[in-house]
Amino acid sequence: MKLLVTGGAGYIGSVVTAQLLEAGHQVVVLDDLSTGHADAVPEGAELVRGTLREKAAQVLQGAGFDAVLHFAAKSLVGESVEKPGLYWDRNLGESLALLDAMREAGVDRIVFSSTAATYGEPERTPILETDPTRPTNPYGATKLAIDAALTEFARLHGIGGVSLRYFNVAGAYGRFGERHAVETHLIPNVLAVAAGARESVSVFGEDYPTPDGTCIRDYIHVVDLGRAHLLALEACTPGRHRIYNLGNGDGFSVREVIEVCREVTGHPIPTTVGPRRPGDPAVLVASSERIRTELGWKPEHDLRAMVGDAWTFLKSRA
Ligand code: UDP
Repeated sequence: MKLLVTGGAGYIGSVVTAQLLEAGHQVVVLDDLSTGHADAVPEGAELVRGTLREKAAQVLQGAGFDAVLHFAAKSLVGESVEKPGLYWDRNLGESLALLDAMREAGVDRIVFSSTAATYGEPERTPILETDPTRPTNPYGATKLAIDAALTEFARLHGIGGVSLRYFNVAGAYGRFGERHAVETHLIPNVLAVAAGARESVSVFGEDYPTPDGTCIRDYIHVVDLGRAHLLALEACTPGRHRIYNLGNGDGFSVREVIEVCREVTGHPIPTTVGPRRPGDPAVLVASSERIRTELGWKPEHDLRAMVGDAWTFLKSRA
C-alpha cells in the first residue's frame, strides 16, 4: 500500500514507519519536526516537512495514497494544562485539516493514535472501550474530540477509521526509540539515572490507594503497539470507526518499574519521593480483549523486554 504517516519523525511514528517498510509498504512521512527528528525517519521513507494544514492536501491530492496513519500530535499532559488553546489548535485543528484533505483526495482509511487519557479517572479496572470517557486534561480531551470527528467522518463521508487507545508505551526498536527534548515518562527518566545523566528519579506520590502506594500503569512494548497498527490498517472498513484499547493488561507500580530497571541495568538507581503529579489516576490498566478477539492481536513483550530495549537504545546514543 502507499501510506502517509503523519508524525513519522517521532518515537512511535518512526517505529511504525520502519515496520511498514519492512512489510513492503511505500511510506511518505509528513512531519513539521517541531518535536520529531529528521534522522529518526527510517531510510526508504520520503520525508515531507510541514504541518498538516500546510501540506496534507498538497501531498495527498492525486497521489494515489491508500491510507493514512496519524501520529502527529502534541502529547505532554502538563503542557496541555498550561496551554489548552495550543493543544486544541494543533491536535484537533490539524486533524480536521487532515480529514478534509483525505476526503478531497478520496483517501478513505485512517489509523489514529488515541490514548488512555480519553478515559480520565476510571471507575473500574481493567478499562473497556465502552467505559465512560471523561478526560481530566486538555490532551485527553483533544484526542477524544478527534475520535468523535472520526466517527462523524465515517458515518457521513464513508471514511474507515480505527482509533488505537495507547496505554503506557515503552521500549525501542533498533535505532528507533524515545528522544524527547522534555522527557516526562517514567522509564526513560529512570534509565537516565542508570546512564549517569541524572542523580536520582523522583517518585510522584507514595500515598495512592495501591499496594505500595505508587501509581499503577499498563506498559506496552512499542513493537507490539506497532504490530497493532498493521492489523488495524487491514481492518479499516469504509463507513466504520472502531476503537481499540492497546495495553498488556498487567499493571506495574512505579516502584516495580524502578526495580525492573535496577535488575536490567545493574545500577542502584536512587529515588526521592515527590508530591503527586496533578491529574495522575492511581491505576490505569487496559482490557485489550476487543482487539485480541476482533483483530487477533496479542502482546509478545513483557516489561523486562521494554526496559531492556530502551536501555540498549539509550546506551547506543550515549
Ligand atoms: N512518574 C514518576 N516519576 C517520573 C515520571 C513518572 O513517578 O519521573 C510516574 C507518574 O506519576 C505515573 C507513572 O510514573 O504514575 C507513569 O508516568 P508516565 O509519565 O510515564 O506516563 P503516564 O501514565 O502519565 O502516561
